[in-house]
Amino acid sequence: MTTAAAIHISFDNSYARLPQNFFAKVEPTWVRAPRLIHVNDELANFLNIDPGQLHSQEGAEVFAGNCIATGSEPLAMAYAGHQFGGFVPQLGDGRACMLGEVVAQDDKRYDIQLKGSGPTPFSRQGDGRAALGPVLREYLVSEAMHRLHVPTTRALAAVLTGEAVLREEMLPGAVLTRVASSHLRVGTFEYFSARKDTTSLHTLANYAISRHYPEAVEQPKRYRALLEGVVRRQAALVAQWMGLGFIHGVMNTDNTSISGETIDYGPCAFMEAHDPATVFSAIDRQGRYAYGNQPKVMLWNLSRLGETLLPLMAEEEGSQEAALATAYEVLNSFAPLYEAAYLRIFRAKLGLAQEQEEDAALVKDLLEAMAEGRADFTLMFRHLSENDGFGAREQFAQPAGFEAWHGRWLARLTAERVTQEERNRAMQQTNPVYIPRNHLVQEVIDAALRQDFAPFEQLLAVLDKPFQERTVLQRFAAPAALEQRVLQTFCGT
Ligand code: AMP
Ligand code: MG
Repeated sequence: MTTAAAIHISFDNSYARLPQNFFAKVEPTWVRAPRLIHVNDELANFLNIDPGQLHSQEGAEVFAGNCIATGSEPLAMAYAGHQFGGFVPQLGDGRACMLGEVVAQDDKRYDIQLKGSGPTPFSRQGDGRAALGPVLREYLVSEAMHRLHVPTTRALAAVLTGEAVLREEMLPGAVLTRVASSHLRVGTFEYFSARKDTTSLHTLANYAISRHYPEAVEQPKRYRALLEGVVRRQAALVAQWMGLGFIHGVMNTDNTSISGETIDYGPCAFMEAHDPATVFSAIDRQGRYAYGNQPKVMLWNLSRLGETLLPLMAEEEGSQEAALATAYEVLNSFAPLYEAAYLRIFRAKLGLAQEQEEDAALVKDLLEAMAEGRADFTLMFRHLSENDGFGAREQFAQPAGFEAWHGRWLARLTAERVTQEERNRAMQQTNPVYIPRNHLVQEVIDAALRQDFAPFEQLLAVLDKPFQERTVLQRFAAPAALEQRVLQTFCGT
């Protein structure tokens, strides 16, 4: 493996300093003809990487894995996971390779990882590669989520490999460079738990605490505090997803982060017409990961994390029984935390700064009217944010339910102490105009398959300011026309 002399990244690789059973040292596989699709200059700057040096053939070679920047110690992380409810004791990075970590301008540590960089000891039957479509989808959706203020992994670069990958058909290969505040997952804990390796669990838990929950160190029961921290962040995260109509699509425990960031954008999608049973993922035949199931699934995933921490909590609690009681207590806090976050989010979406008892019912009844009237989730809330929401009526195929609700809402607004203008301005900061609608993402992918990346650049620019309406961009705000609808999404793995 050659080193990239002209690329300067100040790596400091804490994960590579962990014991050897935490990862496998790997080298990305050489590819034929790396070509840059996009570099995220703003993110590079944030990571203290000079973006200028990345816009070069050497930059493309680094992001394709053909050469390695000085200080990088590439590795594939070990993890396990529950996939659709079934436990797999060994998964691991089968097509990803962590290049290393950097400390960014917020003084926090971030992983830089290549996704689609070739086989690793964890690849099982897979080819270790990624196809162009899923790389572009992850790029667009993760960056959109960031602009929508949702904790998420991010995209630093995308490159073409110049090689084809075989999926249902031959497709152009690509590599995504992903940035995360770490790639620790619930599945990382499950990996050591399944091996009854309490020593490694200690090491991992302490590492997770130092990286994500440093305040837990001061707590008398730090592993309890770790579980509390993950529960708190994930409850808030799922509430944010729900507030945007976002469907993750593969909420397996290996895709559930310890940091509380959205991770692993596979068959994810934003719902258009509001329906809690919405599922896009082609492999989710039972609807396990449907929109309305996400909070329940997250609690299930966090329960798996709680189980892995039992031996550590037993030490600090003094007994198995006490540890179990603590785990239950912490996990039982998920529902109230989630509900409070959810209500906070939907109050803001409805422009309610005051808190009133009946607000929960007001939210619930609106969502029911939306489900009944097949209202577009995003546009409904956006139109509600303009001129007291009379335009929202047009989003309903059958507006009767909405009209009754609208009267109640207008009456409720009289309790607010702000002007309509102030309220609308605040609502427009939380109800986006632009989301990465499925058909728009598909259009971008179709164009990219014809070597036309202009639509990708344009959509990326639109999603960069999701709350700022631009009349020339009307097309990007509209739901899919009947013939544009994309009803299924694929992992593409
Ligand atoms: P995902 O569904 O992307 O979260 O992946 C689940 C597991 O399958 C992880 O261990 C991945 O590393 C692995 N995997 C997914 N796609 C591939 C591939 N093309 N080659 C090798 N491993 C893969
Ligand atoms: Mg995954």
